This record gives sequence, C-alpha cells and structure tokens, in this order.
Amino acid sequence: MSEILTTSLLPNFIGGERVQSPTSRTLPVLEPNTGELIAEVPLSGASELDAAVDAASKAQVEWAKMPTKDRVQILYQMKTLVEAEKDHLAEVVTKENGKTHAESLGSVMRAVECLEFAVSLPQIATGEIMEVSQGVECRTVRVPVGVTAAITPFNFPFMVPLWMIPMSLGLGNAVILKPSEQTPLSALEIARLLEESGLPAGLFSVVNGDREIVEAMCDHPGISAIGFVGSTRVARIVYERSTATGKRVRALGGAKNHLVVVPDADPEMTATNVVASVAGCAGQRCMAASVLLAVGDCDHILDLIKQKMEAIVVGRDMGAIISEAAHNRISGYLERAEEGGAVLTLDGRKASLEHAPAGGHYMGASIIDHASPDHEASCEEIFGPTLTVIRCKTLDEALEIENANPYGNAAAVYTSSGGTAQYFSDRASAGMIGVNIGVPVPREPFAFGGWNDSAFGGGDITGPTAIDFWTKTKKITTKWSDGHRSNWMS
Ligand code: NAD
Repeated sequence: MSEILTTSLLPNFIGGERVQSPTSRTLPVLEPNTGELIAEVPLSGASELDAAVDAASKAQVEWAKMPTKDRVQILYQMKTLVEAEKDHLAEVVTKENGKTHAESLGSVMRAVECLEFAVSLPQIATGEIMEVSQGVECRTVRVPVGVTAAITPFNFPFMVPLWMIPMSLGLGNAVILKPSEQTPLSALEIARLLEESGLPAGLFSVVNGDREIVEAMCDHPGISAIGFVGSTRVARIVYERSTATGKRVRALGGAKNHLVVVPDADPEMTATNVVASVAGCAGQRCMAASVLLAVGDCDHILDLIKQKMEAIVVGRDMGAIISEAAHNRISGYLERAEEGGAVLTLDGRKASLEHAPAGGHYMGASIIDHASPDHEASCEEIFGPTLTVIRCKTLDEALEIENANPYGNAAAVYTSSGGTAQYFSDRASAGMIGVNIGVPVPREPFAFGGWNDSAFGGGDITGPTAIDFWTKTKKITTKWSDGHRSNWMS
C-alpha cells in the first residue's frame, strides 16, 4: 500500500529505488481542499536526471528485445492492480488535486482504459510486409525509440501520465516521468504499481522538479522522445527546446473550448451537459467549456444553465481550485470582466462555502454574459469554473468566433438538427468535436489530441498515432536466391 501520504520530503524513484534528492530546493505540496501541508517535493537537479537516464538506457536494452506480447503482461497486471486499488488511488488524486472523489475515480478508470488499449498492442502495433517486386519483399518492423520522458500537469495527476506510460513501455521504451510539482503523489503510486506489476528496475523513473529539470530533459542527449501535457506557453517552450536537440516531441497545450447553442437544442439536456462541462473538476480541465456562443434567442436555455449552476453545492458537487494563486487568477478575470462591460449574471466568488472544508480554495461557478468576442475572458484560458457567454446572430458568426481563437482542443454544438450538427462539425477548428456533448473526449481506440495552439508536434497523445510516436520503423528489403533472375527494381 501507499507509503507516501506523509509530510516528509518525497523521494524520487530511480533505478528501482526510492532515493532522496540531495537538493536543498524544495516546495511545499498543499492540499487544495484544506490548504494543509501534505509533503515537500524536491526540485531535483541534472545529476538526478543523469542517474535516471543511465538506469533507463541500461534496462531498456533487454526490454526492447522482449516480444510486445511479453512486455504487455506487466501492463495487464498493472491494470488489475489499478482496478483493485481504484478507491485508494482516487483518494490520493483528491488529496493532492482537490477534485471530488467521483471525479478522481472517473480519472482512475479512464487510466484503466489507457492500460487496456496498451495491452492490445501485440494485436495492433504490427509491421507490414509486401512483395514489392518479383521475388523482392519489403517489410517494416517497429523499433522502440529508447529512453523517453513524460512531463505532466497538475489537473489529472494519475490519468495524464497513463496516457503515455503504458504505450511507451509496451512498445519497448523506458520512461522518465516528471510530474507537476503541485501534484507529485500519484507519480509515486504509479512507480509502486509498476514495481508490484513486475516491471524491471530502471525502466520507469520519477524525477520530481520544476522548470530546471524540464529544461534538462529537453537538452539531455540520452532522451529520444518527450511527451508533454500542460499549458500552451510551456508546451511551446518544450517543443522548441527539445526539437532543437533532435528529439521527437508531442506537446499538448492549453485550451479555450467553445460550445455553440442554437435555439432548437433540447433545453434540459443542453443545460445539464453545459453545466457539467463548465463545473466538472472545477473547470480545471483542458476539455472544459469556456465560451458559450448563444445563437439567436437561447435565453430559455441560458436561464436553465444559470439555475443549475446556482444549485451546485461547493465542496460537495464541486471540488477545490488547485491553489490560492489559481483562485486569485480566476477571481481577477471575473473582476476585470465586470469592469470591461460584461454582465456577471452569476458570481462564483459569492457562492456559499458552507459545505466546503475551511482553508480550501473554493469558489462557485460563474457566468460572464454579454461579453464581447475580444474581451480577455472570451479569448484567454481562465482554467476555472467560469462560462463566458457571447451572443451571436447566426451560426456562421459563432463559427467565425470559434475559428478565430488560437486554440483548438475541443468545440461542441447543441442542436436537434443533424444538418446543423454536420455544418458545425465540418467547420469548427478543433481536434475534438462534440455534438450534444460538452466534454467530447474520444475513447480508445479513438485518439485524444487537439489542433492549433493546443498541440505541437502533430499527431495525438493516445490511440493509434501514439504507436507511431513511441516507435521508429525499420524498413527491410529482401531478395532470396530464387529471386536471382530478377533485378530488385523489376
Ligand atoms: P503548466 O504548463 O504550468 O505545467 C505543466 C508541466 O510543465 C509541469 O510539470 C511543470 O512543472 C512544467 N513547467 C511549468 N513551467 C515551466 C517552464 N517555464 N519551463 C519548463 N517546464 C515548466 O500546466 P499546469 O498549470 O500544471 O496545467 C494546466 C494546463 O495544462 C492548462 O493550460 C491545461 O489546459 C493544460 N492541459 C492540457 C491538456 C491537453 O490534453 N491539451 C490536458 C491537461 C492539461
């Protein structure tokens, strides 16, 4: 069982050992629900990364030689352990992140789906073979890229690492995880679960830290590929810095997701779904609804949305904001929205905190109505439970606003018309589209990934294109003696 819910300095996990960092640089890890100190996280230095890369490159040699079918047995075991411990793992997520237990549990079960997909790698990560000319055969084989790194954000400390780790390991690589310094507990649980599943030492490491260790990862010649998930600002830095040293990088960034509501939408279903998208995980999801584009007269639906948001019991139905700094940032957006002429029809700062533990960073959901498309609350990622409403005359006007925003993670339309849904799906500029679904997360075998400033490096982070990302192909062209009469070009 877990040994990490402690107020002591967290270890790194390197070469199969829990090792104390020699650094004097540490940060407190605070529980968002109570503000209490849970642990100290070390901000590791380059020498610890060197040790992790060294252990990884040694262990990966034998690991790469194993058939995929044998490697995924460990992931199968991990899936079984995660399912057996799902409530404990959800508790850890809630403790460090502040989500409700139900939300944390959902994120753990979503990680199970990622493990299930990786367990199917022997069936889907196959090569190709073809006779390309008389007596001449071309064959591709997949080869692991070597030592890989995963750098992850605070908002899904168990699930997001498992978007990448099972795929990379299953395909024969070693993985070094650098979790968010705000939520480092789940990473050590992942290390324990992989260890208990029988993963050989060195193949998985956790190196805690901040910007310094991320930069060292980008520069490290022993790391071949980096998967990053976080804000657009950092995704761009990681993408540029890592590709400059020849690495392959898939870097997912932030989001500003637009929901379009047209008057023929089913009011009850739409309102319930929009509220779940805005307020789920207290709005701290890259798939959360952020802007609602109300086409024509949708007041009856907007009224229902407001009623449902007002009914949310903060601390019971909605968890905490990750930190005081994040709480202040979100409050700042609300303050400036009013100053900028928008109407705050619901102010989450005034919500009752009667059911929320003292000391936590809580707020209710907010609606910023009649916002102009160029206001900061309409354009920037707020990453809190706020919905900015922009009134539009036509669907084309709504699409113009959606298309003009630099992000492209998700977009959704609420309508009862198949034609409207198709028109919107064809024209929205986002990687993940919802029709009457406000959090359109594709499930395996479909892949997760955005467009535009929400993703750098091409491809998706999960699903089939992840197979290409975590492997390189070797192309083998062969002619045996009975093909001697033919030129290989024949
Ligand atoms: P963040 O970008 O601040 O941090 C992500 C990681 O980068 C962390 O491990 C952090 O230690 C590191 N980091 C932070 N600043 C750095 C710097 N200057 N240089 C190098 N590394 C640095 O993100 P966050 O606040 O932890 O998470 C929230 C963000 O993540 C939101 O923007 C959200 O939309 C995004 N996100 C995106 C997805 C997606 O799939 N697109 C999924 C989850 C979260």
